[in-house]
Amino acid sequence: LEKQLQQFKQWVKEAKRIVVLSGAGMSTESGIPDFRSTEGVWTRNQSREELMSLSFLERYPDEFWPIYKDIFQLKLQGNYVPNQGHYALKKLEDLGKQVTIVTQNVDGLHQVAGSTHVYEVHGTLQQAFCPACQATYDIGFINNHDLPMCTKPLSSSASNSDQLGELCQTILHPGVVLFEDQVRYLHESVEATTAADLFLVLGSSLQVGPINQLAMIAQSVPSIKKVILNREATMLDHCFDLVIHNEIGAVLGQAI
Ligand code: NAD
Repeated sequence: LEKQLQQFKQWVKEAKRIVVLSGAGMSTESGIPDFRSTEGVWTRNQSREELMSLSFLERYPDEFWPIYKDIFQLKLQGNYVPNQGHYALKKLEDLGKQVTIVTQNVDGLHQVAGSTHVYEVHGTLQQAFCPACQATYDIGFINNHDLPMCTKPLSSSASNSDQLGELCQTILHPGVVLFEDQVRYLHESVEATTAADLFLVLGSSLQVGPINQLAMIAQSVPSIKKVILNREATMLDHCFDLVIHNEIGAVLGQAI
């Protein structure tokens, strides 16, 4: 490990443009479990992928919302704070490096730690939105409603000041990207990756597409130094110049 750490330190020191791809492992040291260790008790015998899909939300919204809140522990979100790893990435910015964080996480902890350039490719837990009028709602509103619906007045009745207008009442969609939906900022993430001199994966099993393809894209550009820091092996470890199987907080704390 000592040799790997020295190499990693050297590359971090030399790098000017760093792209970080972070996954659920980034936040386990903040107490948020990754998906490999969580188990929910849901009445339907369906996989997380089926339950967290657009079609399930559209067909069974009454079932979708409580399961969504349970899977993502929505009530607990305010209790979580960034860990040493998140702060190490913020420190890289303070050192004058251009740091782009492409995160699969939906917890918002990179921004809380102060990182300024974060692409939330799988969306965010902090908001929900109305698919009809695009109004957005915060996490407090979502937690206060079993089945969150849009409360905006419909524009035609809003002008009628004599009575409370008819409300939109469309069932909200979560700010988290569901299965069957498109990831966000893919183009921007690819652009940032190909322009980077250091590509660093932190705490991701690299099983979720299409964002795991950033590892292959980085591999195709020889000038990029590619590092993965993950507790266990992934099926894409062969794309990296340096593979460190260890804890994020401890390693980043020493290397940055
Ligand atoms: P994953 O759960 O598939 O993989 C996480 C990886 O991180 C595992 O290989 C694990 O060994 C490793 N890991 C865990 N803690 C670590 C630590 N302290 N140091 C080093 N490695 C550690 O996560 P993924 O690849 O991000 O895919 C899961 C999907 O679930 C993502 O799409 C993400 O949106 C979502 N998710 C997000 C959160 C969150 O926002 N915090 C939490 C759970 C799941």
